[in-house]
Amino acid sequence: MKGSFRTRGLVLRTTDYSETSQVIRVFAREHGVLDLLAKGARRPARNSSSFHAPFDPGSWYDISFRKKAGDLQLATEARLVEGFRHLRHDLPAWLDATLAMDLLRTLFTPGDPHDELLRETLQYFKLLSAGQGRRRLRNRYLHSILAASGLQPSWESCSGCEKPLPVSQESRLAFQLPSGFFCGNCSISGGSIFVDHALLNYLRADSGQEWGRVPTWEVPDEVVLKGWDILSSLVSHHLERPPRSLKYLRV
Ligand SMILES: [Zn+2]
Repeated sequence: MKGSFRTRGLVLRTTDYSETSQVIRVFAREHGVLDLLAKGARRPARNSSSFHAPFDPGSWYDISFRKKAGDLQLATEARLVEGFRHLRHDLPAWLDATLAMDLLRTLFTPGDPHDELLRETLQYFKLLSAGQGRRRLRNRYLHSILAASGLQPSWESCSGCEKPLPVSQESRLAFQLPSGFFCGNCSISGGSIFVDHALLNYLRADSGQEWGRVPTWEVPDEVVLKGWDILSSLVSHHLERPPRSLKYLRV
């Protein structure tokens, strides 16, 4: 498919190329992951410039580009729509945003658009910028990543016997990679995490929670942190190499 296109995209990574240019990887509407060469993007801007400033990771742009043979397309014009400036003044929030960009970069391949996930990513960045409920927002985002990648475990039934997971407070539950949750009747070998019902109920509700409700949702910290252990272990399990940004996070 050749031709000229106009789209909106979130810049995931930039690499300087030659004296004045950049190669950027974006997650774009209707296109998914795109690699673009932006000639002259690092040249001082004039009114006539196609690019008003170098591309910045974690910013949202209006982008025109031309498809070339091969994987590197040619960006012809771009305009910054939203720079999420608040994120850049809050290190823990910025590191969370960086993890989100790393995951988009590593879990998805060119030619595989995920417009809903892109919309959710922008919502996540906007809410992260507001500075409330960072850990809950991060868990909510991992649910979206798992769902878009087809990696979501069942929150409803046992991965062993496929019966509904018990709802009484007393029954034992465990989580084990990579399959998910197990009831007490299904024997589980080592390496599993004990799961109580507060945790299961939180994860279950979180998987479809409205974004706007996440920052003020009252969930005990320890439940949120255990939720993070489970969600992040699911994502890491599917990556050959966990993203470097995972190590820097302020859990
Ligand atoms: Zn079972």
